[in-house]
Amino acid sequence: MLIRENYGSGKFGLSIEIFPPKTAAGDAALFESLDRLTAFQPGFVSCTYGAGGSTSKRTVELCVEIQKRYGLTATSHFTCVGATRDELLDWLKFARQSGLQNIMALRGDPPAGQTDFQPVAGGLRYANELVALIREHFPDMGIGVGGYPEKHPEAPDAETDLNNLKRKVDAGADAIFTQLFFVNDNFFRFRDRCEAAGIRIPIVPGIMPVTEFGRIKRITSLCGAVFPTELASQLEAVQTDEAAQFQIGVEWAIRQCRELVSRGVPGLHFYALNKSPACEAILKEIRET
Ligand SMILES: Cc1cc2nc3c(=O)[nH]c(=O)nc-3n(C[C@H](O)[C@H](O)[C@H](O)COP(=O)(O)OP(=O)(O)OC[C@H]3O[C@@H](n4cnc5c(N)ncnc54)[C@H](O)[C@@H]3O)c2cc1C
Repeated sequence: MLIRENYGSGKFGLSIEIFPPKTAAGDAALFESLDRLTAFQPGFVSCTYGAGGSTSKRTVELCVEIQKRYGLTATSHFTCVGATRDELLDWLKFARQSGLQNIMALRGDPPAGQTDFQPVAGGLRYANELVALIREHFPDMGIGVGGYPEKHPEAPDAETDLNNLKRKVDAGADAIFTQLFFVNDNFFRFRDRCEAAGIRIPIVPGIMPVTEFGRIKRITSLCGAVFPTELASQLEAVQTDEAAQFQIGVEWAIRQCRELVSRGVPGLHFYALNKSPACEAILKEIRET
């Protein structure tokens, strides 16, 4: 199924993002989680592409395995990092021939310690170039791209970032999947600005339930997501109680998702981090309301 077929005309698109585990035990845990999460009938599962291109072939193989096991669409993420245009095309050919229909097309992050993204000689600098490359050579593939309700950390301002998002849309992206956020109003403002800029493709909010305060602090400091004081102080009050942290994180995400759904989002994209309990708890609640 193509990404865009998950949204519109009465449909609600659920997608689950996972990452390729590094060990056999990690694989087993991932599939246990997917056994549970696929019961909620996601439109697709997406699998990340390791920083620096570290999981290149593995990401595709995992997508193929997921498609075979669950009979649902798996979407491979793909970045411009460390590859020439020809190498990017070789990988895309491999992904297509392996049976993948969609790509989440990203630029990727600069290596740790560097602030500027430097493409390799003959490589691509921005995700809009990757979208254009896919559209030119694999016109029948579905393309998702990243969007940043609270601005991409490298962008000088929100307007510039929005213009750059528009470049990806104009190059042929089918849907936007946002960076995780905890403050819905920031998403709604972003959605309004996208609308005003003429962006007409689905904008799917990215939700990451907080289950461990320490881990989420690291993640938000890397991606620049605003961490609301109210949520931080609730979590700080139960720093040594994992079950209480989980409960607070899940309740926050349920409130977020209910409001997003009531205000007409086309779907939800869950950053599941290969675990199921938080997403299951949220999906049960929002399916029942
Ligand atoms: C849904 C989602 C999934 C992700 N999955 C992965 C993954 O699997 N692997 C991984 O390594 N990373 C992943 N990331 C992280 C992503 O690679 C980083 O956020 C990266 O820093 C930017 O990627 P991008 O595709 O948004 O880049 P771009 O759209 O290229 O934007 C990067 C920066 O450049 C600016 N810019 C964009 N185009 C232009 C232009 N033409 N001219 C001038 N400036 C421009 C933008 O404003 C922005 O500041 C994901 C992010 C999201 C939101």
